[in-house]
Amino acid sequence: MNNTSETEFVAPKKSTIINSGKGEWLTQMVPCLITQKLITAIYILPFDAEKTILVPNEEIEKNFIKLERDDTYVYTENYPNKKIEIAEFLIKKVNLKKLKKHFEDNQIMTTLIEKIETDSYKSKGNNSVCKILEYKNFIEGTVVDNSKLKRVGDPIYNRRARHSVPISKDYSREDYENCCSFPAPIGIREEDFALPSEQNKICIELLEQVFNSVNAPDCPKEIADELGLKINKNTHTCKWCGELFNIESINQNYCEKEHTLNLCHRDPIAGTKANNIYFGHCSCNREQGGYSELERLMQICRLSKNKEEYKNIIKKELFLDI
Ligand SMILES: [Zn+2]
Repeated sequence: MNNTSETEFVAPKKSTIINSGKGEWLTQMVPCLITQKLITAIYILPFDAEKTILVPNEEIEKNFIKLERDDTYVYTENYPNKKIEIAEFLIKKVNLKKLKKHFEDNQIMTTLIEKIETDSYKSKGNNSVCKILEYKNFIEGTVVDNSKLKRVGDPIYNRRARHSVPISKDYSREDYENCCSFPAPIGIREEDFALPSEQNKICIELLEQVFNSVNAPDCPKEIADELGLKINKNTHTCKWCGELFNIESINQNYCEKEHTLNLCHRDPIAGTKANNIYFGHCSCNREQGGYSELERLMQICRLSKNKEEYKNIIKKELFLDI
């Protein structure tokens, strides 16, 4: 589909299960592009899905709302800035097939490319998310244990696309239990959210960081050009310790030893954006903890304020002549 100037958008009022076989969630208020209208049903493409689904007209009338659009945007209360650029619906993921094929005999590169793919395109998810079977039992009233039922469900998807509906940190468990979709999942953490265009930027950024690490293999020029990778060998550093990142320090069991690799956030609140994440050391990521770099800096400032000794150390370290 190349022309979206005439297309319409709808969104489901509540989360439901689609695809009767294995079952899959259709999230509450996820914008869906209408791709084809039949006589009694229409095909829709949910923003966070890869395939279209067929929905009967009466279901659309009863359980969906129509979303406003203009030439550039579709308007939706549930996404950042209350709108999504329509072009985002047509963006394809970066194609990593050739890269995977080229490095198929290189265990570390294979693991890294898979990690990059997951980090770029999937949200972290949550183990307590409501499973499809649990949801069916809940709806059919076959769950007997009330205490268990109370805990069923979490508003966060399990390993779902990063452009699923972002749920604000302020959204409480009570809000969730009162929402019409409960206990079905209704989205992903807002810090996990990224639009498809941003996800592709993350993917490219992380690939560049890998090829810019010490001891990284060469990326074939043809693949680098096709993906638009800017490679400057031996320039990628862990931002926390400032050391050049060495690809040979990575072992297969992430985080079991010092100096393995981790996806680090310079500011955890700013979330998953290409300019906020980097591959760094696990030990460094642990040291930073859940704080942003700026928060850590302000802690040092506070400690130093009334202690000349600390101030002198900082001046010396930074070669400050004051
Ligand atoms: Zn480090």
